[in-house]
Amino acid sequence: MASPSESHQELPVPPALSAPCTRTTMPLHFVIVGCGLGGLAAAHCLGRVGHTVTVFEAASQIADVGAGIQIGPNLSRLLIRWGLGDELRKASGVPQAITFRKYKTGEQVGWTPWGKNMDRDYGAPYYHAHRADLLDMLFKLASPYMTLFLNSRIVSLDPVLAQVTLESGQIFRGDVILGADGIKSMVREVVVGGPDKPIPTGDAAYRAIIPTSEMAKDPDLKPLVDNPEMTAWIGPGRHIMAYCIRSAQEYNLVLLHPNTGLREAYDVEGCVEKMRVDFAGWEPRVQKLLALVSSTLIWPLFDRDPLETWIHPGGKVALLGDACHPMLPYRAQGSAMAIEDAAVLGVLFSHISSREQIRPILHAYQALRYPRTTITQLASRSNQTIFHLPDGPEQEARDKSMRQAMEDALR
Ligand code: FAD
Repeated sequence: MASPSESHQELPVPPALSAPCTRTTMPLHFVIVGCGLGGLAAAHCLGRVGHTVTVFEAASQIADVGAGIQIGPNLSRLLIRWGLGDELRKASGVPQAITFRKYKTGEQVGWTPWGKNMDRDYGAPYYHAHRADLLDMLFKLASPYMTLFLNSRIVSLDPVLAQVTLESGQIFRGDVILGADGIKSMVREVVVGGPDKPIPTGDAAYRAIIPTSEMAKDPDLKPLVDNPEMTAWIGPGRHIMAYCIRSAQEYNLVLLHPNTGLREAYDVEGCVEKMRVDFAGWEPRVQKLLALVSSTLIWPLFDRDPLETWIHPGGKVALLGDACHPMLPYRAQGSAMAIEDAAVLGVLFSHISSREQIRPILHAYQALRYPRTTITQLASRSNQTIFHLPDGPEQEARDKSMRQAMEDALR
């Protein structure tokens, strides 16, 4: 049985990501549907090379859920290149290692040093941040380059004319439409030519943030704050990811468990009591952490199979981020893949010199991105099996291989 694959165990950087951008000689008008992390990154990457960008966002404000986000070196490398290095460093924590623990006893079964190894091995740090802070950074970065319309849900689009229609009935036309409208994407249904719903994974996530000042009062919990490692407790059908954010002022918990009946992929207020029941019998530190949680969000988890066609046959509409390749968060790579998509689009469209190149460039984008996002989607799914093994021979084999890797790392 394999060990879980960690998010930084990445493929080589795709060539387009390290290629230089130039200022385009053929400015186009990009219409982006959705102003999440992927839409904002696309607005930045396309706007800064000279294209006009209009973004339509259904929500009334640009805001994210109160939760942490893991920023692997493949993502931090891009953010640093875009000038966000200082801000990112100030807003984030650097986990020194990841520790895997047994759910019932808390026994350490795996440990991989991160910290400086990330810079050495991958050329950039691993960060833990608050989602709202990352969204804010990308919003500031993209703002000079985009015209943003809030409260502006796109209800239909004409892929041949590259035209979108808002709920209000208003119509906007561009040269290219990018669907960055998340896991329940309507642009995707236009691209694939019919209804196409996300797949329930069987799991749901509770998310909660605890003030570390409360943890510091308990000698059992204080080391989790003083020693900034990411802790993963793994057990049958469930696991917990936990780490410090915001200069270790807050402790972020993501608790993965079987979904019982939630049908839509969005966050709702969860029941703290039910969350405690879901993790009853887990080691004492988990019980103490859950006792400190005052409110939680619950998010049923959906993904999709890799998509063969990211581009509408008309050659003017393409997908990015969760609209295209949503994945379980079990490799912490969903946002990273969305932002990498945007970076590749920016590089490729910086070189456009005629409108006839729109279609081939979009196809080049898919060709460059598909292998990487597909591997990441599938690896995230296989981590679900590996993390959630029932007690028994397979779990013992997994733990043995993780222990071996830990001993090798400590040697
Ligand atoms: P979204 O963030 O979903 O943005 C889509 C936007 O489009 C939204 O603002 C929405 O309002 C808007 N929209 C939708 N429909 C329309 C419409 N018709 N018209 C106009 N606007 C529309 N990723 C990581 O890299 N690291 C992590 O640690 C990590 N942890 C995660 C933990 C959990 C529990 C979950 C669920 C996910 C996690 N992810 C993580 C994944 C990450 O959150 C997503 O992959 C990422 O947010 C996708 O960004 P996006 O811009 O593609 O889509």
